[in-house]
Amino acid sequence: MSAFTARPTAKISAPRRSVRAVRTRAAATVGADFKPGVITGKEHLALLDHAQKNGYAIPAVNCTMSPIINCCMEAAKKANAPMIIQFSNGGGAYMTGKGTGAEATEAAVLGCVAGALHVRTIAKTYGVPIVLHTDHCAKKLLPWFDGLLEANEKYFAENGEPLFTSHMLDLSEEPMEENLEICAKYLERMAKINCFLEIEIGITGGEEDGVDNSDVAPEDLYSKPEEIHQVYKALNPIAPGMFSVAAAFGNVHGVYKPGNVKLTPEILKKGQEYVKAQENLDSDKPVKFVFHGGSGSSTEEIREAIGYGVVKMNIDTDTQWSFWDGVRAYESEKKGYLQGQIGNPDGEEVPNKKYYDPRVWIRSAENYTVDRLLKAYDDLNAIGALGK
Ligand SMILES: [Zn+2]
Repeated sequence: MSAFTARPTAKISAPRRSVRAVRTRAAATVGADFKPGVITGKEHLALLDHAQKNGYAIPAVNCTMSPIINCCMEAAKKANAPMIIQFSNGGGAYMTGKGTGAEATEAAVLGCVAGALHVRTIAKTYGVPIVLHTDHCAKKLLPWFDGLLEANEKYFAENGEPLFTSHMLDLSEEPMEENLEICAKYLERMAKINCFLEIEIGITGGEEDGVDNSDVAPEDLYSKPEEIHQVYKALNPIAPGMFSVAAAFGNVHGVYKPGNVKLTPEILKKGQEYVKAQENLDSDKPVKFVFHGGSGSSTEEIREAIGYGVVKMNIDTDTQWSFWDGVRAYESEKKGYLQGQIGNPDGEEVPNKKYYDPRVWIRSAENYTVDRLLKAYDDLNAIGALGK
């Protein structure tokens, strides 16, 4: 039994099957080089270099509410590792509230800003470095991106750093030339406030946050070394090292039965070798890669991808499930105490308040999610990363 399965609601058992034995150091301490709380700019770059050098990747979790944000930081603290908290456009809008009168772009911007400020207010108390990021932004969502950059620029003017550490632009549906042209234009603007850019080339299969790539041709699910080099040539001169690439190597959003698509991390290795040779570089890993659509991948596949320079792995589907699974398990175990405000198996007049308080059943969702994230940290070779 791992140290992480002991919990206040002892009767709610952890999903042990999905959690391998993970251990933290007896005295977990933040590595001397990284300050606790939100990190940006050079510190963030140093963290990504640290990950590449020590062979681990950082989980990036899509957050849609404060309990999910908080359990990300709780998991990071337990793993003594960094965490990337990210918001999608839809996640931001949800943070603002489904009943808001704001129009869609404004709701998405405000919700992301609110989430970022929540993180910034409490992150230091968890004692680990946190990266603030936003997820896929397709061409039609660029007004959202503009709103986020305006918030960053305002925050930078007041605090000397951007509100968010990094953002993703996903123009992979556009022709490569246009993709890189728009990314280069935005990176110029972001470089002025030390903000980092993640871009996407090729296509991640499957469906996420309303973008459906379920029907694309199989060959489009794999990036070519030349394309990875094109990204390097377009972006590195603008802001050296301040970008990462979500390349396509057969990854698919969502969870499906094993199918036609085969994960091929070797594509990333070939990309690194090609860029190194073409640019005459010393580094074996000149490109920072991001792994999207990794749900259902084996630990071996994940570790192989990390070996080729993946520093960030997105997690959404699996934590959506763990959060629900915690509620499901709680309701199943306490069913008799959850059917009315008064009256349960202990007596007709016994109140149930302590069972239906959201802090109790959502805590079960949080516990399950912390456990799922510790499994992710283990897959990503990131348990105790800050002590490396
Ligand atoms: Zn993605």
